[in-house]
Amino acid sequence: MQRENSNELHNEALNHLVGGVNSPVRAFKSVHGSPIYFHKASGVTVTDVDGNELVDFVQSWGPLIHGHSHPNIIDKVYQTMQNGTSFGAPHVGEIELAKRVKNRFPFMDMVRFVSSGTEAVMSAVRLARGYTGRDNIIKFEGCYHGHVDSLMVSSGSGLATFGIASSPGIPSDTIGTTLVAPLDDDEIVEYLFEEHGDSIAAVIIEPLPANNGLLVQRPEYLAKLRELCTAHGALLIFDEVISGFRFEQGSYGALVDIEPDITTLGKVIGGGLPVGAYGARREIMEKLSPLGPVYQAGTLSGNPLAMAAGIQTLDMLTEDAYEVLEGLGSLLEAEVNTVLEKHSFPMHIVRHGSLFWFSPGAETPPRCASGIPSNAGVLYSLVHKGLLERGYMLAPSSYEVGFISTVHEEKHILGMVSALDEVLSELD
Ligand SMILES: *Cc1c(COP(=O)(O)O)cnc(C)c1O
Repeated sequence: MQRENSNELHNEALNHLVGGVNSPVRAFKSVHGSPIYFHKASGVTVTDVDGNELVDFVQSWGPLIHGHSHPNIIDKVYQTMQNGTSFGAPHVGEIELAKRVKNRFPFMDMVRFVSSGTEAVMSAVRLARGYTGRDNIIKFEGCYHGHVDSLMVSSGSGLATFGIASSPGIPSDTIGTTLVAPLDDDEIVEYLFEEHGDSIAAVIIEPLPANNGLLVQRPEYLAKLRELCTAHGALLIFDEVISGFRFEQGSYGALVDIEPDITTLGKVIGGGLPVGAYGARREIMEKLSPLGPVYQAGTLSGNPLAMAAGIQTLDMLTEDAYEVLEGLGSLLEAEVNTVLEKHSFPMHIVRHGSLFWFSPGAETPPRCASGIPSNAGVLYSLVHKGLLERGYMLAPSSYEVGFISTVHEEKHILGMVSALDEVLSELD
């Protein structure tokens, strides 16, 4: 596959953009490659600047649940744009999207729209602190919540303690408000609540952690977090930026029958335009300005084009659409398992609905971050490279999940699996 034009653009970009990119994972560093410059994308297919066509299982990292440039979404955005691109004032689109979000997240009495997942999480944490009058947060190793200062923290050498910053530039006072626990360990969270219970504002978790592999949690574990938060007057925040609307129930919380206090959303609800949201029951949301004292604002929040894309996206997420997603997901899982059985390459597939992860290593797929083997990146980069050469694009990192959209078809799944079979034959 020729990549001359991509490489040329990348070299030029290096003079102007940090590492040539505007978000680090796009740089292909962890698969030891150079980024591919896209020219256009439609449905499941992206076309790069060298004219190569790739079947895309990244789908802009989650938002494009109906594939690239779906005609209905494009139409809706185009129609909306005729009346203006930004009002800085209320409009009916905000009410319409809020109603659709509440439909599938019935425990949200009110919603606030922002412009990214990071912004949603940052604001939800502030709201939880403002509501409880407490400062400390518990987060989990292996969950990603955007680049929010107080959540860019990983565990230090101690097992359950205040963490260490995962980036320079984060004040130690900020880190000092974040307790980090491993996933899937009831006792450690119990211990943290025993020690710090009356200072904990919130526990934040991706109920389906999908940013560091797909680390499916035991429902009993999530129930335990619910129980501890309730007992100690802390709020439970489900970060569903990636999992929200991926499942028919809308909320992963509803799927496992656990009600969080605050939920954060993003990705799918913007249908490819920048949207984030957070919502909760009335008494919590009423603490937010202009009703309450907790301040949060945004020049482009509730942007009409973004609301339009979100409304159209959610309207197309019918029962049938979720059936398609589940059907394609289970086909992928079964076919990949058949191929993996034929080869000695150490890898598993973990799949939940339309999200999937190639879990590198021979061991049973882990439920916590420390269970991911240290050579995962090396193993994955071989698979990634082979699939890319054969026209199938997966995320350029072993920690990222794959996304199936409603416009994928059986032939795309079967094509990718047979390419995988070829790649693994060469690696055996
Ligand atoms: C993607 C993601 C975020 C960050 O969203 P951005 O729009 O990239 O800021 C936060 N939390 C989770 C769970 C995510 O998957």
